Amino acid sequence: MKPRHECAVFGIKSDSDVFDKIYFGLYSMQHRGQESAGIATFSDKIDVHREMGLVSEVFKGVYLEGKSGIGHVRYSTTGESGIENAQPLTINYAGGSFAIAHNGNLINSKELRDELEKKGSVFTTTTDTEIIAQLIVQEHLRSGDFMEGLKEAMKQLRGAYCLVILKDEEIIAIRDPWAVHPMVLGKSKDSYVVASESCALDTVDIPLVRDIKPGEILVIGDELKSYSIGTEKISRCMFEYVYFARADSVLDGINVYDVRKNLGRTLHKEAPVTADLTTAVPDSGITTAIGYSRESKIPYGESLMKNRYLGRTFIMPEQKEREVGVKLKLNPIKSEIKGKKIVLADDSIVRGTTVRNLINLLRTAGAKEVHVRISCPPVKHPCFYGIDMQTEEEFIASNKSVKDICKEIGADSLAYTSLEGLIKAIGIPKKNLCLACLTGDYPIKEEQTKLKVE
Ligand code: SF4
Repeated sequence: MKPRHECAVFGIKSDSDVFDKIYFGLYSMQHRGQESAGIATFSDKIDVHREMGLVSEVFKGVYLEGKSGIGHVRYSTTGESGIENAQPLTINYAGGSFAIAHNGNLINSKELRDELEKKGSVFTTTTDTEIIAQLIVQEHLRSGDFMEGLKEAMKQLRGAYCLVILKDEEIIAIRDPWAVHPMVLGKSKDSYVVASESCALDTVDIPLVRDIKPGEILVIGDELKSYSIGTEKISRCMFEYVYFARADSVLDGINVYDVRKNLGRTLHKEAPVTADLTTAVPDSGITTAIGYSRESKIPYGESLMKNRYLGRTFIMPEQKEREVGVKLKLNPIKSEIKGKKIVLADDSIVRGTTVRNLINLLRTAGAKEVHVRISCPPVKHPCFYGIDMQTEEEFIASNKSVKDICKEIGADSLAYTSLEGLIKAIGIPKKNLCLACLTGDYPIKEEQTKLKVE
């Protein structure tokens, strides 16, 4: 099992209908959330369609008119999984209406919700997104100006958030002052687009212009207007580069594919081994394995064939699962494996069960030795910023040494990239990375002083 991301957001303003572009943009970011999907567009009024399911299922036979719109795919971490929590949310109030979608997690949502309820807000979902929306409503009504309301609301939010808001025909993109998760801006002749990842811009053929800045409120109307509420300690999620983002994305100017290849090269420099074949757990370990292979000159080859058609709803009764095991998902290529010493690369180990099963499979298929190389240092601490890693008990590394984990998963050797190696491979200074799930040092703390406002 892999850690899962919470969401992806997409927003576009164009000279023509935007529904198709939002659809394809979300399709390309499906890896960031597979539970629900939604699109809201504006033409005279806001129209929205959201359902549980994959993008390809949710929008069958659906078309929404409008030259501006936002979209969202979701995997729930905060708030239960259910249609009422699917996004975008639409809000109608005395000051008007807007639609909003969110990627990330707040760490002060309980305090904010209690405070809002005291002031009369009524909640219909259990998401952070509705808390943000209600905060915007209250601050708008208090100040009498939507933009002022947005700024005031942002100053009260603590945590990771990338927001897209559809207000009349304008799109507003917002990134938290710590810039934990990515968000990019693209521009073509007739459109402006914002998205969680640049792969979504590529898909709709809109060139990348820049990243949304930390603490930025970018209003896309007839012209672009950028506001800032100031920045905090920039803390980019290292896991976006290691695993979450698509390898073809460029985040904050850094090519994700290059980072993963660097990690493979680093792994070989830090933990060389004599072997006949470098191979990967598909798909998460492939780029790292390529980097390892290029550095070590140990040829790269496939050893496990993945069944890519099992689908999201694949659930097997426990007994059957034990009988068929991982073989339904991954089948070893015996001719490639037999009699060989193998380097098996992957991005991370959470509980250790999957990699143990895979090592078993490889040995049964005739592997002489299996040396596991993991591109992310041991994950030991929960994430509070929008990644589904909630408790320390989930992680095999939280109470076991590398030697013990190696024994437990049945590998001939096990090595993780060092923290220094990881930082160098990403190419962002340590002080600007969130490494909290590795080190326990959380960049956004409850007791931290309020934002310094510009
Ligand atoms: S704790 Fe880990 S997964 Fe969560 S934002 Fe920080 S680096 Fe990313």
